[in-house]
Amino acid sequence: MTYANVMVNNVPAILKRISRAATRAGRSPNTVNLVAVSKFFPVESINDAVNAGLRNFGESYVQDAVKKAEAIAALPAAPHVLWHLIGHLQRNKARAAVKVFDLIHSLDSVELACELDRQAGAIGKVQRVLLQVKMSEEQTKSGAGISDIPEILSAVHTLNWLKLDGFMVIPPYHDDPDKSRPYFRRLRELRDDALEMGYETTELSMGMSHDFEVAIEEGATMVRIGSAIFGSRDRNFDSEQAGTDEAGNV
Ligand SMILES: *Cc1c(COP(=O)(O)O)cnc(C)c1O
Repeated sequence: MTYANVMVNNVPAILKRISRAATRAGRSPNTVNLVAVSKFFPVESINDAVNAGLRNFGESYVQDAVKKAEAIAALPAAPHVLWHLIGHLQRNKARAAVKVFDLIHSLDSVELACELDRQAGAIGKVQRVLLQVKMSEEQTKSGAGISDIPEILSAVHTLNWLKLDGFMVIPPYHDDPDKSRPYFRRLRELRDDALEMGYETTELSMGMSHDFEVAIEEGATMVRIGSAIFGSRDRNFDSEQAGTDEAGNV
């Protein structure tokens, strides 16, 4: 089988696992959205994934998404693709980011929120964002601390061009997916607290290839799945981009 065939066959298998995990948790499978993490994979893979029914694609770097959005314009998939930023965002990339991303999962400070608001306003776009939360020192360096959440929620609430849809977390990696569960559960509690305060923060972006079923059991509304769909990133489609991203993810 060709690489495209293998990848395309992965999609129904993952959708079935998502659906089973949701059902197990007493949830409707269509409350869980799949964000296919296409970082380090070429636009041809994204085009194949669109043909397999996927619409949402996650990238770690702004520049990569900009390049891919340009490259995919020539392919039939282009109008169907929604881009998600899942990696750390520096303030000086906010202008480029608001142009390409449907959803930015990595808001982590009031300063970044203000800059995103300014840049989104400049192009007349309401930018959807998620607040990335950091719960322990073991985690990646990006993310807002739990104690910073109230301040960020109330600051974003005053901004006209940002809409905060929910929360995102990246637990420290463990082979045992159950080790991620306390992080997922905590994020859901933080989300519920915000809802109770009156914020419309329903989304929970949590769960990757090795732990998405646990995340769904704990309430994930978006799972970010890369290698289980596209295969190992060791394949190094773009060797220039190989290595560790700003968030410390390989
Ligand atoms: C790379 C990455 C993913 C996907 O990881 P897989 O283990 O390949 O599914 C999800 N979320 C973030 C933030 C990532 O950097």
